[in-house]
Amino acid sequence: MSSHASAPSDRMSQTQAQAPIPNGTGKKWRAGVLGATGIVGQRLVKLLSTHPWFELTEVAASERSSGRTYAEAVRWHLDGPVPDRARGLLVKGLDPTLDCDFVFSALDSSVAGTAEEAFARAGYPVVSNSKNHRMDPDVPLLIPEVNAAHLDAIPVQQRNRGYDTGFMVTNPNCSTAGLVLVLKPLADAFGLEKIFVVTLQAVSGAGYPGVASMDIHANVIPFISGEEEKMESEPQKLLGKWDGARFVDAGLGLSAHCNRVPVLDGHLECVSLALKKIASLHEVREALRNFQVDAAVAALPTAIPRPIHVLDGDDRPQPRRDVHAGEGMAAVVGRVRECPLLDIKLTLLSHNLVRGAAGAALLNAELLAARGFLSSRITSEGQLAAEPIRR
Ligand code: NAP
Repeated sequence: MSSHASAPSDRMSQTQAQAPIPNGTGKKWRAGVLGATGIVGQRLVKLLSTHPWFELTEVAASERSSGRTYAEAVRWHLDGPVPDRARGLLVKGLDPTLDCDFVFSALDSSVAGTAEEAFARAGYPVVSNSKNHRMDPDVPLLIPEVNAAHLDAIPVQQRNRGYDTGFMVTNPNCSTAGLVLVLKPLADAFGLEKIFVVTLQAVSGAGYPGVASMDIHANVIPFISGEEEKMESEPQKLLGKWDGARFVDAGLGLSAHCNRVPVLDGHLECVSLALKKIASLHEVREALRNFQVDAAVAALPTAIPRPIHVLDGDDRPQPRRDVHAGEGMAAVVGRVRECPLLDIKLTLLSHNLVRGAAGAALLNAELLAARGFLSSRITSEGQLAAEPIRR
């Protein structure tokens, strides 16, 4: 069994402490979080409280929360107290006049679409968790370890939409995030033809309060609205190419069954694959085990150099035991074996709120920062300006 840290995912800050700020000024970028009171927003608030490059300066949410301090408005779900930095911040509404250099969006999808566009139009880079713009033809759907080159779509997006310094990037749906991370080295080494996946998804994937306890306790719900459609479309874009003008799909055959199970955190996925090139089980395990991300991405504070952990035990991965692997940023793979229908089958697990949401968004923002896509906005008497983007 390969070793992996099973430390709680909110300990991510220990590795983050070392990375220098890549902007030459030594000053952190100021981040806002839209949807800061939700289950993903809280993770972002916590991770930002110790981040080496970003500091939290603004929080925004619905009318239910705005006008109160963050500590008063939030129903805190994480271990430990609300971070000091966030406690006294006044929760604002979705007016795009926040005092920050860029925003994360962890908004409910009923409002995320228009709010994210309004912030981008007003000049803010928007790093989104929401589904609304993921499949837009000029918006990167990003996993830095998989398709960092898709950032090249940003100038085209800005031109298409008449944005100045603002733009949108998105991270995938929580179950797609773990799946595609595991598919990437297999696509590179052997090529992929067909993917059949059955998910067992945690309740925290539905936000708070999510599924009623009387529906999920000692039960399985074989339906998650919109989830199968996301899992059957997002990998095509993620594993496809940006050709300079548009995203070209990966041309995969994909079928997904999505189920909600009574697990708190961590989506488990049972996957069967047809490969383009014949490969032994040993070669597949080695391709997964040896997957190493490119050095520039590995140097980002939230990145881990080897984001796939391969376990040998017959009964792993398990959500309770393995969900914190790589501080929540790893995909844990086990049970790699032959598939009598396709070629290979395996089981994978990833943390839906870290790798699948807050950690993913943080990593995307770090990549944007490292590639010169974030600039400092200057406030003067309510007027916002932005320095030109260094690229
Ligand atoms: P959540 O717990 O329901 O939080 C939703 C957030 O949106 C809250 O801050 C809420 O503010 C805010 N909001 C709701 N209606 C609003 C309105 N009309 N105006 C302004 N703000 C409003 O949901 P979540 O699980 O954190 O998910 C957030 C987003 O991330 C969703 O788009 C979701 O699909 C996506 N996502 C979630 C996961 C996951 O595993 N949970 C993974 C990947 C992506 P109030 O507290 O004031 O109501």
